[in-house]
Amino acid sequence: MIGRLLLWLVLGLIAWWMLRPRKAAPPPAAGRAPAPGPAGAAPEAMVDCAHCGLHFPASEAVRDGTRLFCCAAHRDAEPRRAE
Ligand SMILES: [Zn+2]
Repeated sequence: MIGRLLLWLVLGLIAWWMLRPRKAAPPPAAGRAPAPGPAGAAPEAMVDCAHCGLHFPASEAVRDGTRLFCCAAHRDAEPRRAE
């Protein structure tokens, strides 16, 4: 009698364990805006090359003092300042 009750209790616990809602890891797309793509959406500062005027991201700039260039060749093409 009591063994049968225990059996049902254990079965109920197993069923609850299998069917319980999982809240530990919500799907990444739920509720939040999707992450920006690798190109286009990044809010990056744009700068102009001091030599050719090209518009390019500041993270790719080649610096010479306070001036910015799109590449090392354009930096070298500009006359250097007196130091
Ligand atoms: Zn340039």
